[in-house]
Amino acid sequence: MIQPTENVAGAPAVAATAPVVDRSNKRPITKDVLDVQDFNERIVGAYNDGSAEMELPADHSTLRSLIPAGTGALRDFSYIAPEIPLLNSANCVACMDCVVECPDTAILGKAVPKSVLEAELAKIENVEDREHLSKQFAKTTKFWTTYEKRGKEPAYFGIFIDPTKCKGCAECVDACGNHGALSMLMKDTGILKTSQRDFNFYLKLPETPKEYINEKLLSDMMLAERSLLYVGGAGSCMGCGEATALRMMLAATGFQYGKESVGIVNSTGCSTVYASTYPYNPYLVPWTNSLFENGPADAMGVRARWDQMGWGDKKLWVVGGDGAMLDIGFQSLSRMLASGMNIKVLILDTQVYSNTGGQSSTATFKAQNTKFSVHGKVILGKTERRKEIAQIAMMHPNTFVAQTSCAMSNHFYKSIMA
Ligand code: SF4
Ligand code: SF4
Repeated sequence: MIQPTENVAGAPAVAATAPVVDRSNKRPITKDVLDVQDFNERIVGAYNDGSAEMELPADHSTLRSLIPAGTGALRDFSYIAPEIPLLNSANCVACMDCVVECPDTAILGKAVPKSVLEAELAKIENVEDREHLSKQFAKTTKFWTTYEKRGKEPAYFGIFIDPTKCKGCAECVDACGNHGALSMLMKDTGILKTSQRDFNFYLKLPETPKEYINEKLLSDMMLAERSLLYVGGAGSCMGCGEATALRMMLAATGFQYGKESVGIVNSTGCSTVYASTYPYNPYLVPWTNSLFENGPADAMGVRARWDQMGWGDKKLWVVGGDGAMLDIGFQSLSRMLASGMNIKVLILDTQVYSNTGGQSSTATFKAQNTKFSVHGKVILGKTERRKEIAQIAMMHPNTFVAQTSCAMSNHFYKSIMA
């Protein structure tokens, strides 16, 4: 609340203490603002069948730049890659690394109590189908032997691939590594059909019960549905590490606070292009985008409004790449850090301007080869030293800074949850 202390000449007198105004939003989002069902069927449907450009009229939702949550789930990427992962459940140890590292929420795991899975399998009449589906589950030490030893009902553990979200990057196969439970398989119509049927079976099964989710084992957070706040269907390149970081940030925040308590302000960059390619939105949380250079300032406005509304407990993230946070939007970031406002920042430090094609940025390391600093005989890549944004951020009072990588999932999660 602004409390004017001086009267400006000629201006009407203003009370020194203005009356408290209730600014809370009493108006729910109604169909005239955004008709979610119509959007998902008519607009997303037209983009999915390729008729949007020819047939869709300009309408209010386009005008307002609104996209409902999670429309990315309606996008089908099954045609873009020649290969898809194949599970050999005998080698699976339920480490969840594949689920955590996938950038597209295309591979998911579930622990299903013995009695529940066996009852579901018994409903399948075709013996071959039943045997095939039962082979997608493993009896692991983590969910089977340990629970049996404790005298509790053991659970089967299954890994399932969503063929409509998988971009065939094989990050999951790398993450699985020496366990050797995943390999890439050439797709054909039959394989796609089988993967879709298997994935539908996964969706039908109940969520992993909370007694099988060890809250201390951070890699297991993605077993809980409240952690899966990024549905995939985004236009990011195959294997994009940024998307993994965003999924992991949301998983940790959603697991701790719930999806109603998270919001994102995104500075323009790769992460806004692939996350809001109309009409596809991979987020299940409120998300907004303004410019390259003002994400943190935008976030300060959102935070101020949230606090006015009594939403002090909600977690607000501002996300941007090295262009937005180290360069063009650095002044905005610095101002925000100095404000002491309750806003968390995720800098997706790709060490190049990814959105414009991989030119050197101030985050690029000395001697690194990029489009604007080609490494050759005369000039050995980038000639300047890298700007260390973590060190600069630490110079702002009361600021906690962590530098981490998705490759170290425990460290990443702890940094987010700190
Ligand atoms: S191949 Fe890539 S997109 Fe597909 S499930 Fe594995 S990590 Fe995810
Ligand atoms: S990474 Fe491999 S071993 Fe771990 S859960 Fe995935 S498939 Fe199983």
